Amino acid sequence: MEKYEKLEKVGEGTYGKVYKAKDKATGQLVALKKTRLEMDEEGVPPTALREVSLLQMLSQSLYVVRLLCVEHVDNKKDGKPVLYLVFEYLDTDLKKFIDSYRKGPNPGPLAPAMVQSFLFQLCKGVAHCHSHGVLHRDLKPQNLLLDKDRGILKIADLGLGRAFTVPLKSYTHEIVTLWYRAPEVLLGSTHYSTGVDMWSVGCIFAEMVRRQALFPGDSEFQQLLHIFRLLGTPTEKQWAGVTTLRDWHVYPVWEPQNLARAVPALGPDGVDLLSRMLKYDPAERISAKEAMDHPYFDSLDKSQF
Ligand code: AMP
Repeated sequence: MEKYEKLEKVGEGTYGKVYKAKDKATGQLVALKKTRLEMDEEGVPPTALREVSLLQMLSQSLYVVRLLCVEHVDNKKDGKPVLYLVFEYLDTDLKKFIDSYRKGPNPGPLAPAMVQSFLFQLCKGVAHCHSHGVLHRDLKPQNLLLDKDRGILKIADLGLGRAFTVPLKSYTHEIVTLWYRAPEVLLGSTHYSTGVDMWSVGCIFAEMVRRQALFPGDSEFQQLLHIFRLLGTPTEKQWAGVTTLRDWHVYPVWEPQNLARAVPALGPDGVDLLSRMLKYDPAERISAKEAMDHPYFDSLDKSQF
C-alpha cells in the first residue's frame, strides 16, 4: 500500500472504512476500501475473486464507480491477508448532496432537470448491472456517488451484496438502513429479483423530489407500516401470494393514498413512473430498461448519456 498516500477518512460503509488517498506515482485521487474478507492460508476465497472480477467488468460502465485495482496486503497484526479495493474517487454522494439542499445556506428544491438527469443515469447503471445478471440489493443515496462538476451519477458498492451477504448491522454495529428495502424482502421472500433494485430506485427518486425519505422506518415492521400507509395494505388480488410470504402477519388495513401528494413538486409523468417503480407485485414493477423509455424522460436529451 506504499503506492498510496492516505489523505482522510471519507466514509464508513457497510463493509468498512473508506479512505481518500492519492496514487503517489500519478497524483490520481482514489478511494480505498478495505474489505473484511475472512481469508485463511489458502488465500482469497474463489467466490470473492469471482465477485471482484465481475465488479471490475461491470465498472466499465460510466454509471458504475470504476474499480481501478485490487491490492492484496498481509495484515501486520494477525498475519491474515487483507484485500483493498481501489476505486476512482468522487467528490460527494447523493445523500450529502440532498442534505446540502435541505440544510445548506440556500435551502431549496433540486432542479427538476437535475432530478431527471440523475434518475436517468441511475436507471442506466441499474439496467447495465441487471443485463449482466447482477443485483445491487442495497441501493441508497449514500451508495450513489456524484461528480458534481460534470453532473454524473455513479453506482457504488455494487456486487458486494453477493460475495458478502448484506448484513443487518454494519461492522460498526450501525443499523443498515431499511428505507429503500422492497416489501418482498421485508416480508421474507427468498426468491427476489431485479424488482428489489427498482423499488429502491423509486424510493430514491421520491427522495430527490422531497429532499426527505419516502419511507423512513426504523425497524422492519415499522418500515412495512410506512409503505402500507401510503400505498395501502397489499391484498392477494394486487399481489398474488403476498399472504403466504414467511413474515406476513395480519396488518392494519389501509386504503392507498394519492401518491402525487407525497411528491407535490413532481408532474404527472413523474408520478406515473414512480407508481410503476413502487408496484407491490415485483413482477409488475417497471424494469430499469423500460423506465429509460418512460415519457417522464421525453424532455431529456438522452444523447449526452
Ligand atoms: P460505501 O461503503 O460505498 O457505502 O461508502 C461509504 C461512504 O464512503 C459513501 O457514502 C461515500 O461518501 C464514501 N465513498 C465511497 N466510495 C467512494 C469513492 N469512490 N469516492 C469518494 N467517496 C466514496
